[in-house]
Amino acid sequence: MKLEDKLFLDRYVVDEDHSHLKIKDSENCVKCEKKQCTYACPSDVYVWDGKLINIAHADCLECGTCRIVCSEFDNIEWSYPRGGFGVSYKFG
Ligand code: SF4
Repeated sequence: MKLEDKLFLDRYVVDEDHSHLKIKDSENCVKCEKKQCTYACPSDVYVWDGKLINIAHADCLECGTCRIVCSEFDNIEWSYPRGGFGVSYKFG
């Protein structure tokens, strides 16, 4: 089973009013050469548009990878979604 097929099994309750993922300082993203978040996230939450990192927080799997790989600038403010929101995993 491909990763995309597995991700399709997950369910999300999206918090439309609040993102649990934030960029601390967008100027640091401009300076960041590797932009690790754009390829380390298994759910492609971070996309560089040439000027900014766009965050699709609704797709987050809450794995924590992004806050580890953003090591050069420690530029991601990470928290779990508010209560009642976020991903629900399904197995099988
Ligand atoms: Fe992507 Fe995991 Fe970070 Fe969520 S916690 S944005 S799934 S790397």
